[in-house]
Amino acid sequence: MDITVVIPLYNESESLPELTQWIERVMEENDFSYEIIFVDDGSTDDSYSVIRRLAKKNPNIKAIQFSRNYGKSPALHTGFRIAGGDVVITMDADLQDSPDEIPELYRMITEEGYDLVSGWKKKRYDPLSKTIPTKLFNATARKVSGIKNLHDFNCGLKAYRKAVVKNIEVYGDMHRYIPYLAKNAGFSKIGEKEVRHQARKYGHTKFGLDRFVNGYLDLGTLWFQTKFGVKPMHIFGLFGSIMFLIGFLAVLTVIILKIVSICNPEFHFYLTKSVYFYLSLAAMIMGLQFFLTGFVGELIIRNSAERNSYLISDKIE
Ligand code: UDP
Ligand code: MG
Repeated sequence: MDITVVIPLYNESESLPELTQWIERVMEENDFSYEIIFVDDGSTDDSYSVIRRLAKKNPNIKAIQFSRNYGKSPALHTGFRIAGGDVVITMDADLQDSPDEIPELYRMITEEGYDLVSGWKKKRYDPLSKTIPTKLFNATARKVSGIKNLHDFNCGLKAYRKAVVKNIEVYGDMHRYIPYLAKNAGFSKIGEKEVRHQARKYGHTKFGLDRFVNGYLDLGTLWFQTKFGVKPMHIFGLFGSIMFLIGFLAVLTVIILKIVSICNPEFHFYLTKSVYFYLSLAAMIMGLQFFLTGFVGELIIRNSAERNSYLISDKIE
């Protein structure tokens, strides 16, 4: 099979027939063998019955229905598990992404050798309250992930080589960072294609402004996991050592001041009035906490199923 289109959706019943028709047309015009996997993320409207109807007419349509709303990332992840096409395309269900981009995305993966091609909505039809934070967010994501050529990490329209989607785990809200996840798994040929973007025709956006707060928090988590995921002591031990050093210097200062005040009755030194005394206490306690956190982290890693899983791309036997 050439192409799997994975479409996560939550309450998008009005868009589905039009979207399906459009994809079918593109696939037939280009002679692709394909499947469409709708993942209904617990819709409360009649999205799933619409999908049922569409699937009756076209045997290439498959669907999964979640029992409740889990989120876009779980929906993508579940679609990825059953995707069978050589190239997997993800696309939002709201008609903001154009299926006309599919043939070129397919070509970039199969002929130009990209592992992942992300859409870039250069001209967006979203409100300013969304486009400006998005710019900032993408700049940070580029810096942190080291994927310097992507303008639009969170574009719903993306194409992947099959191996990529089978080897990454999209969970929580991590769909925003799929290129970063792919890069961490060793799929580093990541490209971009300018795509047309349209204003939402039906329904409304499913993400509020909290997307930016959560987006930044997730980026921090991902960065931390990438760098110290299997060696937490390297970071906590460093902070702990710095704290202990500060504490040690402060204690030393306190001792010296005390000795000076004993030898020299003119010089008054009150332990509990000294800033160094409190500094030494605080620094020592914090240092200890950093070390304990590091040790606990190491114990957790020791028991983690992931601690020794490496993705092997080739073998000669
Ligand atoms: N979506 C989903 N589960 C959710 C929220 C959204 O499957 O909990 C789907 C939604 O139906 C759409 C896609 O994810 O197909 C992108 O959502 P939306 O268009 O609301 O995001 P935006 O375009 O505003 O970034
Ligand atoms: Mg949308």
